Amino acid sequence: MNLPRLLAAVLAATATLAAQPAPLPVVTQLLTDRSGYELLGRLCDDFGGRLTGSPASRAAMDALVNELRALGLKPERQHFTMPGWVRGDDEVTLLAPLPTPRRLRVAALSYTQPHAPFEADVVDIGQGRDEDFAKIEVRGKIGLLAANTTVPRGLYEKAAVERGMRGVLFINREAGGQLLARTGAFSGEPLKIPVYSLAQEEGKWIGRLLARGQNVRLRMHTRSHCAQIETENLIVRFPGRTAEKIVIGAHFDSWDLGQGAMDNGIGLAQLFALAKYLAANPADRLRPIELIWYNGEEQGLWGSRHAAAVARKEPIAAMVNLDMVGYPLSVNACGDERLVPLLTRFAATMPVERLREGVKNVAWLASDHTPYQLDGVNVFTFGAYIDREVNRYYHDVADTFDKSDPKLIAESSATIGAFTLFLADASDLTATRRTPAEIAAVVKTHGLAPRLTAMGLWPLPPVPTP
Ligand SMILES: [Zn+2]
Repeated sequence: MNLPRLLAAVLAATATLAAQPAPLPVVTQLLTDRSGYELLGRLCDDFGGRLTGSPASRAAMDALVNELRALGLKPERQHFTMPGWVRGDDEVTLLAPLPTPRRLRVAALSYTQPHAPFEADVVDIGQGRDEDFAKIEVRGKIGLLAANTTVPRGLYEKAAVERGMRGVLFINREAGGQLLARTGAFSGEPLKIPVYSLAQEEGKWIGRLLARGQNVRLRMHTRSHCAQIETENLIVRFPGRTAEKIVIGAHFDSWDLGQGAMDNGIGLAQLFALAKYLAANPADRLRPIELIWYNGEEQGLWGSRHAAAVARKEPIAAMVNLDMVGYPLSVNACGDERLVPLLTRFAATMPVERLREGVKNVAWLASDHTPYQLDGVNVFTFGAYIDREVNRYYHDVADTFDKSDPKLIAESSATIGAFTLFLADASDLTATRRTPAEIAAVVKTHGLAPRLTAMGLWPLPPVPTP
């Protein structure tokens, strides 16, 4: 670079620096706070994964309550019942063509029911589309489902049941023996046939045998079972001058295979850091702030569905969902163009490096903002970065605290804290809910209907007449 150009670059950089907003006190404080990270370490290691309804989940929730009380807060338990599921010692064993049986590396999807052990042949059902099924005889067999299937969950199980199949094994998209715990049905209805996640390497092995025309035979025995459970969300409230509240939510529950350190230990920790900040910094804010740790998210958004239903008549100015928010890159209007100017105003209060990608407007589904969004509430999420070497362990045995990053939790909590305070006092925000027609327009524009329908959340139930 020649001297004039270098000088120009330096001047431009200086101008950018000069234009940066001054750091907000909430950002400065949360950047140096390790309490969210440290709490997460205790919850992960003392209790393990927090599958809703499990003894580990209850004990971890009690521990969180105690930690919040130690901050001088009064956490409230919001009890509800939901379809629960208890993992048992499930077995899927490869019999033929091996000389000796081999127990496969599997994890049942939630709501898979117990059944007597049975043996059946395996057939490759590709991606589980109609055209895949059309080519083969599948009745009485176990289907091997490709990792890259685009058929929504629920639909491939339904297709398999209609064709008289006995079970489905879906190959994991991540390699290295990883498994993918996930729900089998957002409806909470027991699955009609067992559905399992299968380690990629074993799935490919079976696929190669089938491609060579070998007879592959398995034994399946599911001991996991469904059970109605009582559980709770946890709420901490901070006062404001109006009734219109700001809800900041994160799911507390996780899958049971690992520790739920990332999904959603990150959100659990961010919410705790925020609670600590708000407790230590009482202020005369326009709107009350409500922090909610939800349960039952993984199995079907049960906690947020309950909390949104309870709050249906209450004025909610905004709901912010914190589900695996890594280093924040953008703040997201979730499909409502009218919310973009507000977010643009917020982004202008942040130095560029705190929100590099600024404002986005992308609707996405299947986390705790969805029930609120379908109730017409203004919902926001963050676009964020989590290292690939951490992110890859999503829902796996290896989602454990050793991968947690104190810097990520502090950096994200700082931006989330700033956004929370911004929303609490923003003048151009109202708790007016979108009408059913406006909700339908967002669903249509962003092509959400097929997935919402598969989840049993679309079309919306008719509004009850008073
Ligand atoms: Zn999650």
